Amino acid sequence: MNLLQPQGKAEALAMLAEHPDAIPIAGGTDLLVHWPVRPAEHDRTYVDISRVAELKGLQWTDAELVLGGLATYWDIVTDQRAARELPLLVRAARQVGAVQIQTRGTWAGNIVNASPAADGVPVLMAYDAVVVLESRRGREEVPLADFYTGYKQMRRAADQLVVAIRVPRRPYAAQVFEKIGPRRAQAIAKIGLAVTRSAAGWRIVAASMAPTIRRCPALERRLANGPAPRAPEDLVPAIEQDVTPIDDIRSTAEYRKRVMARVLFFALPELQA
Ligand SMILES: Cc1cc2nc3c(=O)[nH]c(=O)nc-3n(C[C@H](O)[C@H](O)[C@H](O)COP(=O)(O)OP(=O)(O)OC[C@H]3O[C@@H](n4cnc5c(N)ncnc54)[C@H](O)[C@@H]3O)c2cc1C
Repeated sequence: MNLLQPQGKAEALAMLAEHPDAIPIAGGTDLLVHWPVRPAEHDRTYVDISRVAELKGLQWTDAELVLGGLATYWDIVTDQRAARELPLLVRAARQVGAVQIQTRGTWAGNIVNASPAADGVPVLMAYDAVVVLESRRGREEVPLADFYTGYKQMRRAADQLVVAIRVPRRPYAAQVFEKIGPRRAQAIAKIGLAVTRSAAGWRIVAASMAPTIRRCPALERRLANGPAPRAPEDLVPAIEQDVTPIDDIRSTAEYRKRVMARVLFFALPELQA
Protein backbone atom coordinates (compact mmCIF):
# COMPACT_ATOMS: atom_id res chain seq x y z
CA MET A 1 0.00 0.00 0.00
CA ASN A 2 1.20 3.47 -0.88
CA LEU A 3 -0.03 6.13 1.57
CA LEU A 4 0.42 9.78 0.66
CA GLN A 5 -0.20 12.41 3.33
CA PRO A 6 -0.60 15.92 1.90
CA GLN A 7 -0.44 18.82 4.35
CA GLY A 8 -2.54 21.19 2.23
CA LYS A 9 -5.25 21.22 -0.47
CA ALA A 10 -2.94 22.15 -3.37
CA GLU A 11 -0.62 19.27 -2.48
CA ALA A 12 -3.58 16.85 -2.23
CA LEU A 13 -4.89 17.89 -5.67
CA ALA A 14 -1.39 17.52 -7.15
CA MET A 15 -1.11 14.00 -5.72
CA LEU A 16 -4.49 13.01 -7.19
CA ALA A 17 -3.45 14.43 -10.57
CA GLU A 18 -0.15 12.53 -10.52
CA HIS A 19 -1.65 9.22 -9.34
CA PRO A 20 -4.77 8.57 -11.44
CA ASP A 21 -5.57 5.37 -9.52
CA ALA A 22 -5.27 7.01 -6.07
CA ILE A 23 -8.20 7.00 -3.65
CA PRO A 24 -8.81 9.84 -1.18
CA ILE A 25 -9.32 8.72 2.40
CA ALA A 26 -10.92 11.04 4.98
CA GLY A 27 -12.39 9.48 8.15
CA GLY A 28 -11.87 5.98 6.74
CA THR A 29 -15.12 4.75 8.27
CA ASP A 30 -16.38 3.38 4.96
CA LEU A 31 -13.08 2.46 3.30
CA LEU A 32 -11.52 0.60 6.23
CA VAL A 33 -14.55 -1.59 6.85
CA HIS A 34 -13.82 -3.64 3.73
CA TRP A 35 -10.08 -4.09 4.21
CA PRO A 36 -10.10 -7.26 6.34
CA VAL A 37 -12.28 -9.07 3.78
CA ARG A 38 -10.86 -7.55 0.60
CA PRO A 39 -7.04 -7.61 1.00
CA ALA A 40 -6.55 -6.75 -2.68
CA GLU A 41 -7.92 -3.28 -1.90
CA HIS A 42 -4.87 -2.54 0.29
CA ASP A 43 -2.62 -2.62 -2.73
CA ARG A 44 -3.50 0.88 -3.90
CA THR A 45 -2.32 4.42 -3.52
CA TYR A 46 -4.30 6.32 -0.89
CA VAL A 47 -4.25 10.08 -0.42
CA ASP A 48 -4.98 10.69 3.26
CA ILE A 49 -6.63 14.12 3.25
CA SER A 50 -7.36 14.14 6.99
CA ARG A 51 -4.64 16.75 7.73
CA VAL A 52 -5.77 19.27 5.11
CA ALA A 53 -6.77 22.23 7.27
CA GLU A 54 -8.53 24.11 4.42
CA LEU A 55 -11.16 21.35 4.22
CA LYS A 56 -12.06 21.22 7.91
CA GLY A 57 -15.11 22.56 9.70
CA LEU A 58 -18.06 24.60 8.52
CA GLN A 59 -18.79 28.20 7.77
CA TRP A 60 -22.03 30.24 7.79
CA THR A 61 -22.51 33.08 5.32
CA ASP A 62 -25.62 35.23 4.84
CA ALA A 63 -26.84 32.93 2.07
CA GLU A 64 -25.63 29.47 2.98
CA LEU A 65 -23.95 26.95 5.23
CA VAL A 66 -20.70 25.71 3.70
CA LEU A 67 -19.57 22.33 4.96
CA GLY A 68 -15.86 21.79 4.34
CA GLY A 69 -14.76 18.66 2.51
CA LEU A 70 -13.71 17.24 5.89
CA ALA A 71 -16.71 18.47 7.94
CA THR A 72 -17.85 15.68 10.24
CA TYR A 73 -21.25 14.77 11.64
CA TRP A 74 -19.98 15.95 15.02
CA ASP A 75 -19.29 19.43 13.60
CA ILE A 76 -23.03 19.62 12.91
CA VAL A 77 -24.22 17.95 16.13
CA THR A 78 -22.31 20.59 18.12
CA ASP A 79 -23.39 23.59 16.02
CA GLN A 80 -26.31 25.42 17.62
CA ARG A 81 -27.25 27.33 14.47
CA ALA A 82 -27.56 24.07 12.54
CA ALA A 83 -30.04 22.84 15.15
CA ARG A 84 -32.13 25.99 14.69
CA GLU A 85 -31.96 26.43 10.91
CA LEU A 86 -31.19 23.06 9.35
CA PRO A 87 -32.37 20.61 11.99
CA LEU A 88 -32.55 17.63 9.63
CA LEU A 89 -28.74 17.72 9.37
CA VAL A 90 -28.55 17.29 13.13
CA ARG A 91 -31.26 14.62 13.20
CA ALA A 92 -29.49 12.57 10.54
CA ALA A 93 -26.01 13.11 12.05
CA ARG A 94 -27.19 11.84 15.42
CA GLN A 95 -28.38 8.62 13.80
CA VAL A 96 -25.14 7.85 11.95
CA GLY A 97 -23.44 4.95 13.73
CA ALA A 98 -22.58 6.13 17.23
CA VAL A 99 -20.43 8.96 18.59
CA GLN A 100 -17.14 7.39 17.47
CA ILE A 101 -18.33 7.34 13.85
CA GLN A 102 -19.95 10.78 14.13
CA THR A 103 -16.62 12.32 15.16
CA ARG A 104 -14.61 10.70 12.32
CA GLY A 105 -17.10 10.26 9.48
CA THR A 106 -17.48 13.12 7.01
CA TRP A 107 -20.43 14.38 4.97
CA ALA A 108 -18.27 14.32 1.82
CA GLY A 109 -17.30 10.70 2.50
CA ASN A 110 -20.99 9.84 2.85
CA ILE A 111 -21.70 11.46 -0.53
CA VAL A 112 -18.82 9.80 -2.40
CA ASN A 113 -19.32 6.40 -0.81
CA ALA A 114 -22.72 6.59 -2.52
CA SER A 115 -24.56 4.02 -0.44
CA PRO A 116 -28.26 3.93 -1.37
CA ALA A 117 -28.90 3.61 2.40
CA ALA A 118 -26.81 6.60 3.54
CA ASP A 119 -28.24 8.99 6.12
CA GLY A 120 -26.32 12.17 5.34
CA VAL A 121 -27.19 12.32 1.66
CA PRO A 122 -31.03 12.42 1.94
CA VAL A 123 -31.11 15.41 4.26
CA LEU A 124 -28.52 17.30 2.22
CA MET A 125 -30.56 16.59 -0.93
CA ALA A 126 -33.78 17.73 0.74
CA TYR A 127 -32.00 21.03 1.45
CA ASP A 128 -30.89 21.42 -2.22
CA ALA A 129 -27.20 21.01 -1.35
CA VAL A 130 -24.58 21.56 -4.03
CA VAL A 131 -21.38 19.50 -4.23
CA VAL A 132 -18.24 21.56 -4.89
CA LEU A 133 -15.55 19.55 -6.67
CA GLU A 134 -12.00 20.68 -7.27
CA SER A 135 -9.01 19.30 -9.14
CA ARG A 136 -5.91 20.84 -10.65
CA ARG A 137 -8.07 21.36 -13.76
CA GLY A 138 -10.41 23.72 -11.91
CA ARG A 139 -13.58 23.91 -9.84
CA GLU A 140 -17.04 22.55 -10.61
CA GLU A 141 -20.39 22.62 -8.80
CA VAL A 142 -23.01 19.88 -9.13
CA PRO A 143 -26.41 19.88 -7.41
CA LEU A 144 -26.49 16.81 -5.18
CA ALA A 145 -29.85 15.84 -6.71
CA ASP A 146 -28.02 15.44 -10.09
CA PHE A 147 -24.79 13.95 -8.70
CA TYR A 148 -25.56 10.22 -8.96
CA THR A 149 -25.85 8.57 -12.36
CA GLY A 150 -26.33 4.95 -11.22
CA TYR A 151 -25.45 2.53 -8.42
CA LYS A 152 -22.17 3.87 -6.96
CA GLN A 153 -21.76 5.99 -10.12
CA MET A 154 -21.42 9.72 -9.83
CA ARG A 155 -20.32 12.91 -11.53
CA ARG A 156 -16.91 12.98 -9.87
CA ALA A 157 -13.65 12.35 -11.75
CA ALA A 158 -10.83 10.44 -10.06
CA ASP A 159 -8.68 13.55 -9.64
CA GLN A 160 -11.47 15.61 -8.02
CA LEU A 161 -11.92 16.18 -4.33
CA VAL A 162 -15.18 17.26 -2.74
CA VAL A 163 -13.83 20.46 -1.23
CA ALA A 164 -17.15 21.79 0.07
CA ILE A 165 -20.89 21.18 0.24
CA ARG A 166 -23.03 24.31 -0.07
CA VAL A 167 -26.39 24.29 1.69
CA PRO A 168 -28.67 27.27 0.99
CA ARG A 169 -30.24 29.05 3.94
CA ARG A 170 -33.97 29.64 3.52
CA PRO A 171 -37.05 29.55 5.74
CA TYR A 172 -38.76 26.17 5.87
CA ALA A 173 -42.44 25.67 6.56
CA ALA A 174 -41.83 22.03 7.48
CA GLN A 175 -39.00 19.50 7.68
CA VAL A 176 -39.04 15.80 8.49
CA PHE A 177 -36.38 13.07 8.57
CA GLU A 178 -37.27 9.47 9.40
CA LYS A 179 -34.93 6.49 9.36
CA ILE A 180 -36.61 3.12 9.66
CA GLY A 181 -34.18 0.47 10.90
CA PRO A 182 -34.07 -2.46 13.28
CA ARG A 183 -32.85 -0.20 16.13
CA ARG A 184 -31.97 3.42 16.86
CA ALA A 185 -28.14 3.29 16.68
CA GLN A 186 -25.66 1.40 14.48
CA ALA A 187 -28.38 0.44 12.00
CA ILE A 188 -28.56 0.57 8.22
CA ALA A 189 -31.78 2.14 7.00
CA LYS A 190 -34.49 -0.14 5.60
CA ILE A 191 -36.12 3.09 4.49
CA GLY A 192 -34.97 6.69 4.85
CA LEU A 193 -37.13 9.68 4.12
CA ALA A 194 -36.22 13.37 4.17
CA VAL A 195 -38.91 15.93 3.37
CA THR A 196 -38.78 19.72 3.29
CA ARG A 197 -41.37 22.29 2.26
CA SER A 198 -40.39 25.89 1.53
CA ALA A 199 -41.06 28.65 -1.02
CA ALA A 200 -38.90 26.55 -3.37
CA GLY A 201 -41.52 23.77 -3.17
CA TRP A 202 -41.61 20.22 -1.83
CA ARG A 203 -38.46 18.12 -1.64
CA ILE A 204 -39.07 14.45 -0.95
CA VAL A 205 -35.96 12.28 -0.87
CA ALA A 206 -35.95 8.52 -0.40
CA ALA A 207 -33.09 6.27 0.79
CA SER A 208 -32.84 2.47 0.48
CA MET A 209 -35.59 2.60 -2.16
CA ALA A 210 -33.52 2.60 -5.39
CA PRO A 211 -29.92 2.09 -6.58
CA THR A 212 -29.20 5.66 -5.54
CA ILE A 213 -30.68 8.07 -3.07
CA ARG A 214 -33.05 10.19 -5.10
CA ARG A 215 -35.71 12.84 -5.11
CA CYS A 216 -39.28 11.70 -5.74
CA PRO A 217 -40.78 14.10 -8.32
CA ALA A 218 -44.10 12.24 -8.73
CA LEU A 219 -44.69 12.35 -4.97
CA GLU A 220 -43.68 16.00 -4.86
CA ARG A 221 -46.25 16.79 -7.60
CA ARG A 222 -48.87 14.64 -5.86
CA LEU A 223 -48.53 16.60 -2.63
CA ALA A 224 -48.26 20.00 -4.33
CA ASN A 225 -51.19 19.62 -6.74
CA GLY A 226 -53.21 16.48 -6.01
CA PRO A 227 -56.15 15.97 -3.67
CA ALA A 228 -55.16 15.39 -0.06
CA PRO A 229 -54.42 11.67 0.40
CA ARG A 230 -57.02 9.98 2.60
CA ALA A 231 -54.98 6.87 3.36
CA PRO A 232 -51.31 5.79 3.01
CA GLU A 233 -52.28 3.62 0.02
CA ASP A 234 -53.21 6.77 -1.93
CA LEU A 235 -49.51 7.62 -2.05
CA VAL A 236 -48.35 4.23 -3.41
CA PRO A 237 -48.92 4.95 -7.15
CA ALA A 238 -46.63 7.99 -6.97
CA ILE A 239 -44.08 6.05 -4.91
CA GLU A 240 -44.08 3.34 -7.60
CA GLN A 241 -43.28 5.98 -10.24
CA ASP A 242 -40.37 7.37 -8.25
CA VAL A 243 -38.52 4.41 -6.76
CA THR A 244 -37.64 0.78 -7.46
CA PRO A 245 -36.99 -0.94 -4.12
CA ILE A 246 -35.63 -4.49 -4.03
CA ASP A 247 -35.94 -7.52 -1.75
CA ASP A 248 -32.68 -7.90 0.18
CA ILE A 249 -31.29 -9.06 3.51
CA ARG A 250 -32.78 -6.06 5.34
CA SER A 251 -36.27 -5.90 3.90
CA THR A 252 -38.65 -6.64 1.04
CA ALA A 253 -39.63 -4.29 -1.75
CA GLU A 254 -43.28 -4.50 -0.72
CA TYR A 255 -42.53 -3.65 2.92
CA ARG A 256 -40.41 -0.69 1.83
CA LYS A 257 -43.15 0.78 -0.36
CA ARG A 258 -45.89 0.30 2.21
CA VAL A 259 -43.84 1.70 5.07
CA MET A 260 -42.63 4.67 3.03
CA ALA A 261 -46.28 5.49 2.25
CA ARG A 262 -47.21 5.21 5.93
CA VAL A 263 -44.28 7.28 7.19
CA LEU A 264 -45.07 10.04 4.72
CA PHE A 265 -48.83 9.91 5.29
CA PHE A 266 -48.55 10.16 9.07
CA ALA A 267 -46.02 13.00 8.76
CA LEU A 268 -48.41 15.03 6.59
CA PRO A 269 -50.17 16.88 9.43
CA GLU A 270 -46.76 18.20 10.52
CA LEU A 271 -45.65 18.86 6.94
CA GLN A 272 -48.83 20.69 5.94
CA ALA A 273 -49.30 22.63 9.16
C1 LIG B 1 -19.82 1.18 12.60
C2 LIG B 1 -20.27 2.05 11.44
C3 LIG B 1 -21.54 2.59 11.47
C4 LIG B 1 -21.96 3.40 10.41
N1 LIG B 1 -23.23 3.90 10.45
C5 LIG B 1 -23.67 4.67 9.44
C6 LIG B 1 -25.00 5.18 9.47
O1 LIG B 1 -25.77 4.97 10.42
N2 LIG B 1 -25.41 5.94 8.40
C7 LIG B 1 -24.58 6.22 7.34
O2 LIG B 1 -25.00 6.92 6.42
N3 LIG B 1 -23.32 5.74 7.30
C8 LIG B 1 -22.84 4.98 8.31
N4 LIG B 1 -21.56 4.47 8.27
C9 LIG B 1 -20.73 4.75 7.08
C10 LIG B 1 -19.75 5.93 7.21
O3 LIG B 1 -19.45 6.22 8.54
C11 LIG B 1 -20.25 7.22 6.52
O4 LIG B 1 -20.63 6.98 5.18
C12 LIG B 1 -19.22 8.35 6.58
O5 LIG B 1 -19.85 9.56 6.26
C13 LIG B 1 -18.03 8.14 5.63
O6 LIG B 1 -17.13 9.24 5.78
P1 LIG B 1 -15.56 9.01 5.90
O7 LIG B 1 -14.94 10.35 5.99
O8 LIG B 1 -15.22 8.04 6.97
O9 LIG B 1 -15.28 8.36 4.47
P2 LIG B 1 -14.05 7.43 3.94
O10 LIG B 1 -14.21 6.02 4.43
O11 LIG B 1 -12.75 8.11 4.26
O12 LIG B 1 -14.31 7.53 2.39
C14 LIG B 1 -15.53 7.07 1.82
C15 LIG B 1 -15.50 7.34 0.31
O13 LIG B 1 -15.50 8.73 0.06
C16 LIG B 1 -14.32 9.13 -0.65
N5 LIG B 1 -13.99 10.44 -0.12
C17 LIG B 1 -13.94 10.81 1.19
N6 LIG B 1 -13.76 12.13 1.31
C18 LIG B 1 -13.68 12.62 0.05
C19 LIG B 1 -13.51 13.94 -0.50
N7 LIG B 1 -13.41 15.02 0.29
N8 LIG B 1 -13.48 14.06 -1.84
C20 LIG B 1 -13.60 12.98 -2.66
N9 LIG B 1 -13.78 11.72 -2.20
C21 LIG B 1 -13.82 11.55 -0.86
C22 LIG B 1 -13.31 8.00 -0.43
O14 LIG B 1 -12.37 7.91 -1.48
C23 LIG B 1 -14.23 6.81 -0.36
O15 LIG B 1 -14.59 6.40 -1.68
C24 LIG B 1 -21.09 3.67 9.31
C25 LIG B 1 -19.80 3.12 9.31
C26 LIG B 1 -19.38 2.32 10.36
C27 LIG B 1 -17.99 1.75 10.34
